Amino acid sequence: MKDTRATAGTPTLFTLTTGPVNCYPEVLSAIGQPVLYDYDPAFLAQYEAVVLKLQTALGVSTIPVILQGEPVLGLEAAAHSLIAPGDTVLNLVSGVYGAGYGEWLRPRAQAFHEIRVPYDDVIDPAAVAAFLGAHPETAVVAVCHHDTPSGTINPIAEIGRVVRDHGALFVVDSVSAWAGMVIDIEAAGADLLVTGPNKCLGCPPALSILAVSDRAWAKMEANPAAPRGSILSILDWKEAWRAENPFPFTPSVAEINALNAALDLYLAEGPAAVWARHARTAEAMRAGVKAMGLALWAAREEIASPTCTAVKLPEGVDETALRDRMKCDYGVVISSGRAETFNRLVRIGHMGPTAHPIYAVIALTALGGALAGLTGRNIDIGAGVAAAEAVMRG
Ligand SMILES: *Cc1c(COP(=O)(O)O)cnc(C)c1O
Repeated sequence: MKDTRATAGTPTLFTLTTGPVNCYPEVLSAIGQPVLYDYDPAFLAQYEAVVLKLQTALGVSTIPVILQGEPVLGLEAAAHSLIAPGDTVLNLVSGVYGAGYGEWLRPRAQAFHEIRVPYDDVIDPAAVAAFLGAHPETAVVAVCHHDTPSGTINPIAEIGRVVRDHGALFVVDSVSAWAGMVIDIEAAGADLLVTGPNKCLGCPPALSILAVSDRAWAKMEANPAAPRGSILSILDWKEAWRAENPFPFTPSVAEINALNAALDLYLAEGPAAVWARHARTAEAMRAGVKAMGLALWAAREEIASPTCTAVKLPEGVDETALRDRMKCDYGVVISSGRAETFNRLVRIGHMGPTAHPIYAVIALTALGGALAGLTGRNIDIGAGVAAAEAVMRG
């Protein structure tokens, strides 16, 4: 029988999830603007301006692409567009999302390989170098930057250097990392970086954002298997950003307005300042988790994400019961694990508007209180809060 606890008790007061996340108020009011006809000259100018603003936010020299669907669209489109008949593909798997991406890559590849590590660890660039040395025919390498169901960060700059030296194309799923942590997309050699506004940028789920290198455009244009005239097409949108060019189909007008507002906020605050408050929030959260006698999921704290903290579930605690109690008694909603990490950890998101250390204090209080209530264990919530506050004070 379905547990009804989650719908009873305190209404949701704090959504501290890993996506969808709460939106910035400015984003919500932008969604409420009049929905213009997509060929209204005002919207054509707005679309072009948003794409150029996005280019600035991404920090890339090429024009980015917006696809009109939440980021799984961008990820699936990337697999279809880049992989040509005959290609050898390497997928790097350190978690559930990395593994899932293989299911889109595998059917398109002539030869498909994976490097796998345990889901509390990250990919070793030396292992990638060794593989590419042994398989010089490899054309495409894919990695998930922040494998969200584990809350761990792959070293994409180091992996990217190896991939670029080898000459393969590098696909990066940075959906839950970009705009929440330092990333130099071009220095990392990312040829097709897929992200979205619905995680660290504080927008609702609706769009995919793609940073595309010149090498990636050349490969897609030469690829007879790349979708055209399709919702999965990246190529169809290449020139659509210019106000004088047509759209392949109607763009998500309200969501483009929302993205515009989010980009304004991101650029006004400054990416480095935004990344710093994400990092500080995660640091406060980790300090509190440890001070309450709980364990982080990540094998080493250096690989723990600044945009999500995964906390190991104590022996014998049911994750659904824990999250229900946090919701019911405290009005705090956090994320579960997924697939292999389900019922082994819970996750607190630090993304966009919730990337402020005070939210770590709220999460720690609700997590510690719910655990104490469920298990009868004495959890030192005061020590957790004090440790988080010490990080806040710097
Ligand atoms: C959120 C996310 C996606 C997009 O998938 P959702 O359907 O929004 O969950 C893709 N990749 C990663 C790493 C993500 O965190």
